[in-house]
Amino acid sequence: MSARPDGIDAAADVDWTRVRADFPLLQRQVHGKPLVYLDSANTAQKPGAVIEAVDRFYRQHNANVSRAVHQLGSEATEAYEAARRKLAGFINARPDELVLCSGTTFAINLVAYSWALPRLKAGDVILVSRMEHHANIVPWQLVAERTGAIIRVAEITPDGSLDLEALHKAMTPEVKLLAITQVSNLLGTVNPVREICREARRRGIATLVDGSQAMPHRPVDVTAIGCDFYAFTGHKMCGPTGTGVLWARREHLEAMPPFLGGGEMIREVSFEGTVFNDPPHRFEAGTPNIAGFVGLGAAVDYLQGIGMAAIEAREAELLAHLTEEMDRIEGLRIIGRAPEKAAVVSFLVEGAHAHDLATLLDLEGVAVRSGQHCAHPLLQFYGVAATCRASLAFYNTHEEIDAFIAGLHKVRTLLG
Ligand code: PLP
Repeated sequence: MSARPDGIDAAADVDWTRVRADFPLLQRQVHGKPLVYLDSANTAQKPGAVIEAVDRFYRQHNANVSRAVHQLGSEATEAYEAARRKLAGFINARPDELVLCSGTTFAINLVAYSWALPRLKAGDVILVSRMEHHANIVPWQLVAERTGAIIRVAEITPDGSLDLEALHKAMTPEVKLLAITQVSNLLGTVNPVREICREARRRGIATLVDGSQAMPHRPVDVTAIGCDFYAFTGHKMCGPTGTGVLWARREHLEAMPPFLGGGEMIREVSFEGTVFNDPPHRFEAGTPNIAGFVGLGAAVDYLQGIGMAAIEAREAELLAHLTEEMDRIEGLRIIGRAPEKAAVVSFLVEGAHAHDLATLLDLEGVAVRSGQHCAHPLLQFYGVAATCRASLAFYNTHEEIDAFIAGLHKVRTLLG
């Protein structure tokens, strides 16, 4: 595998067969067939480098962070803080602006409870888009219930693009926060978050970007995006489950009260009162997922070793192949045709329930997700109860796409 230090990586420069061999799980069989894993938007598979980093941590360095003066304690603390620095470099941010947490869901809830709840009042508006994951809807509803704020929805066009004109019109003076996804987990739509955040900032609206589905697939620079908050999850970018990050502008973190109380987040405790630690530690109560973050740091090294631009280019090639082949299948409807898409394809097949389709594909060794994808309002827009979703990662192959298409043909015949 190769990556150019000047950042002009190209998919053609990378030995993708070697990359694929880095993922032990992808070698296994399912129901006697070679596994075709097309569910990376749900969770990504892990390369050996990540698995080994976690294993090595437990075998050689395991201790709690920031508590013990002994050698292992300082090794564990250094490994954990090294992961924070790597993650910060990966998104072009300062390490002390990264709160390490359990995932996007936690990160968004942290903003909801520590930033929005103390600030918002009756009549204020939280603007979200139709294509949000429930993790970027429900926390705002909880805040709205308690404050009297209102949720306003920015609509999409039938091809699954955000209606930018409508979005800009919806940015009225009552809007205090815009919470928007960079990439839709159901449609694959890539939203122009840089332009959107610029418009919001001009109007004095704070912005939270859900980067869960962007981080695994493209270079992300939070400084260039210009948002106030950026949330993402580690397990979709080849890291361990139970890891994630909230990046926030330092001035927000300084002003936010703690979300959870406990060890690590304090400087001094007495029964008369507590002095809280500085951010980001103020928001990291209790023992964190230390080994998980060591693994996530290894995932960052791994992804950077390939190059995010090369990954983006590779996935664009795979997506073009997948879409072209799926379009040839009679009775198959793709939901989400935005001009700029990540490698996610939601679809329906005439006469077949999404779960039946996914179950029969599983018997062919093909793993796709079926259901509502934590995006009920989006399914309501399309008037469907569920979809199947094939989602790709750079470790997938053109042969796997062909196997999936063959599986689809077989399943269609079976369902008759
Ligand atoms: N936001 C988006 C767009 C997602 O796709 C997901 C996960 O599917 C989440 C948020 C929630 O991530 P997690 O469950 O890791 O907190």
